[in-house]
Amino acid sequence: MIFKSVNLLCNNYCNNKCNMCHIWKNTNKIDLSIEDIISLFSHEEFREVEDISLSGGEALMRRDLVDVIDKIIEHNPNLKNIFLNTNGTYPERAKNICEKYIKNPLEIYVCVSIEGPKDLNNKLRGVETYGLALKTLELVKSVGASNIKTIISTTFQFENGTIENLEYLSGLAKDLGSTLTFRFAGVSETYYQNLKNPPKQTPKVNQLKMLELATKKFPNNQFLQIQKEFTETGKIPIMQNSEREIVCKAGEAFCFVKADGNIYPCLYSSRIIGTVKTGVKKQITNLGAYEPCPCCTECHVYPMLNYVKNGIRI
Ligand code: SF4
Ligand code: SF4
Repeated sequence: MIFKSVNLLCNNYCNNKCNMCHIWKNTNKIDLSIEDIISLFSHEEFREVEDISLSGGEALMRRDLVDVIDKIIEHNPNLKNIFLNTNGTYPERAKNICEKYIKNPLEIYVCVSIEGPKDLNNKLRGVETYGLALKTLELVKSVGASNIKTIISTTFQFENGTIENLEYLSGLAKDLGSTLTFRFAGVSETYYQNLKNPPKQTPKVNQLKMLELATKKFPNNQFLQIQKEFTETGKIPIMQNSEREIVCKAGEAFCFVKADGNIYPCLYSSRIIGTVKTGVKKQITNLGAYEPCPCCTECHVYPMLNYVKNGIRI
């Protein structure tokens, strides 16, 4: 396997109290160390990584995040894109990091979580993040570099999964010069730790209406088109072919690395396929045995679109 895209959790703690995720309840705080990062990217199978998505917990709670990013850049000569996912509560830190990479050839996407208008957002996030999230978007934009972009990132669940909210968020994104991406709340013990308390979902009828609208508003967004097809038919050809065989390249072209150093094929998988110390030495042959295939989230669909053609890794 040769990984092109890595979803990296820098830490396992967070200052939000989201209702759809229980990472914030972790009391044993763990950071993925700089040594672990160097070790991970020294393995042969991690030598061609082009996209890295940094997340947590809240990655910006780490005061050394800029050192983390420096090491990632130093050890990934093919890196093209960094996605910095944040709940938006550290506007100045986000801006300072972006300023450091103004002249870097990398594209940096700062993805800020906003769930809806102020009161709804703050209710679902358990703390008042709305104002800070807007400030983060504003400050990152103020850096004024063409390689630094902002994205509003929303997880729709029962309470915020409405057409009205989608209209609100797409208007907000437009006003702030950002793009909008969204997905419906997922269940993953490996990532969100929410298997015992799964989020109440947006009713399917609303999901369909929202995706109908979103694909009209953003006709060039391939992820939204795929999400719409998946919601309408339950099928997702990019992950599962017409014979219902899994064609997803989780654990082969992309993977998920937790702050404790364990590596999984994807964020929904319950099996460990390696560690930052050992790397991933064996290819998975039975995808779906420990994964709820197929799935439809940005961090899995985009690597499949970008690095896999006709079931073959490119
Ligand atoms: S969803 Fe993100 S911001 Fe919310 S508690 Fe989980 S890690 Fe924190
Ligand atoms: S759950 Fe999704 S990303 Fe994971 S192996 Fe299945 S299809 Fe691939």
